[in-house]
Amino acid sequence: MTRWGAILCALALCQTAPAAAQDRPPERPAPAQPQPVPQAQPDPGAVFGPPAPPRWFSLRETDEDHAACKLALSLLGTVYTEEPSITDPDDPDCGIARPVRVERILPDLTLEGDAVMRCDTARALGFWARDFLRPAAAMLPGAPRVTGLQLGTAYDCRPRLGTGAEQPKLSEHALGNAIDIAAFVFDGADPLIVQPRTDTGDLAEAFQRTVRAAGCLFFSTVLGPGSNDAHDDHLHLDVAVRRGGWRLCQ
Ligand SMILES: [Zn+2]
Repeated sequence: MTRWGAILCALALCQTAPAAAQDRPPERPAPAQPQPVPQAQPDPGAVFGPPAPPRWFSLRETDEDHAACKLALSLLGTVYTEEPSITDPDDPDCGIARPVRVERILPDLTLEGDAVMRCDTARALGFWARDFLRPAAAMLPGAPRVTGLQLGTAYDCRPRLGTGAEQPKLSEHALGNAIDIAAFVFDGADPLIVQPRTDTGDLAEAFQRTVRAAGCLFFSTVLGPGSNDAHDDHLHLDVAVRRGGWRLCQ
């Protein structure tokens, strides 16, 4: 370096060689880009909390309700026995907590069939038989007394019939809430079979229509001939509880 160059450099006016790369401080790393946090997707099939109790168990009567129901049966003169709780190994929802087996729903009105049901069902059947079935029969020729009901199904662990659904819901029969009546038996007259009686224009049709319609005062579901093919040969009566007290009477 010349003398003048040294002077200029002393005044910080000279051009010095660039610092070697290895003398530079390391470059600051680029800030990390935030990565999306995987969100847990809700499982539509997940069940929160403990599993729901079996359907039959959720319908169990309190001691007070059961005592009130049995008192009503006593007033009706129902002949029945109390049975142990019913459950079913094939479907945990099926069963009856406090079943009754009814022999006669009124003192002289026999249930012909395996009449196991909840007490609520028996009570509804008894009041319907006493207050509407018997008076309706008195209007038939010869005023016969109804002495028997030929039953179809009472308790049965199975799905609903005639709904057309691929996976139909549990039948009310599987909970002891339902009873099927296939025929009315009279003292001194031929049995009256439940069957389609559309516009036959006789008292048999009037009787079947009358007792079927009156059933809706005691039962929340009444089905029969014309409801669907599965009910063409019996009346289905059940005490299913629906939201808002809604009733299905056809
Ligand atoms: Zn039925």
